Amino acid sequence: MEIRRFFVNPSDINGNTVTLSGDEFYHMTKVLRYKEGYKAVILANDGIELHSTVTSIGKDTATLTIDERKVVDVKNAKVTLYAGLLKNNKLDFVVQKGVELGVDVIVPFISQNTAETKFNLDRAKKIALESAKQCGSVYLSKVEDLTDYDTMLGDFTSFDKVIFAYEDEKQTRIADAVEGGKNVAIIVGPEGGFTPLEVQKAKENGAEIVTLGRRILRAETASIVSLTLALDALHELDYEH
Ligand code: SAH
Repeated sequence: MEIRRFFVNPSDINGNTVTLSGDEFYHMTKVLRYKEGYKAVILANDGIELHSTVTSIGKDTATLTIDERKVVDVKNAKVTLYAGLLKNNKLDFVVQKGVELGVDVIVPFISQNTAETKFNLDRAKKIALESAKQCGSVYLSKVEDLTDYDTMLGDFTSFDKVIFAYEDEKQTRIADAVEGGKNVAIIVGPEGGFTPLEVQKAKENGAEIVTLGRRILRAETASIVSLTLALDALHELDYEH
């Protein structure tokens, strides 16, 4: 039988015991009909696989005992994608693909030219969870709630590199801009793009403006391309660091 993978919070692990609750408990016991004695791989977003056995199943929680710990992935650099909110739930696609590529955090934002106002955080989190499982990731990317442009600018100080994708930039490439970064933010605009004032403010707050090539990409394409280029340049797509 295939051993399934379940994500937990670090606080759900106590010594050799794991407590599974919420959606993952439901998935394990109601959808997959797990019973006591079944094997599972538990993941707490730290690159370690906890090979475990179910020891008891209660009404709302299941308890597992850890049999073996395997370190399978060590991250050198973290990447946070700030993506302009998109129409027709198109950010769901960005979340799904971003997780497959290995983004750490996705933060949707509202700016001057954003046409959409609503973001379904719960659904985006579910998409991230499904995507992480589907692609065999040991990390569960975090999706944060909608933020606004000025709050995002204020966040810039918590990163060592802030990369801002703007179609009027003709020279600076992502690979050069992210080099040596350990905690990188990438900013991609909504369908309507950025205003000159927004670009100016981003620069003033420490962002480096980069090009994604000679053609104007759709916002969702731009997110995926910039993540790919940045993660590759940071060696986060390599097997060995
Ligand atoms: N509305 C703008 C384009 C917006 S594209 C226009 O029509 O002129 C959406 C976002 O994708 C942009 O805000 C930018 O962050 C990114 N983007 C698209 N193509 C790009 C390129 N060639 N270089 C850098 N960023 C790009």
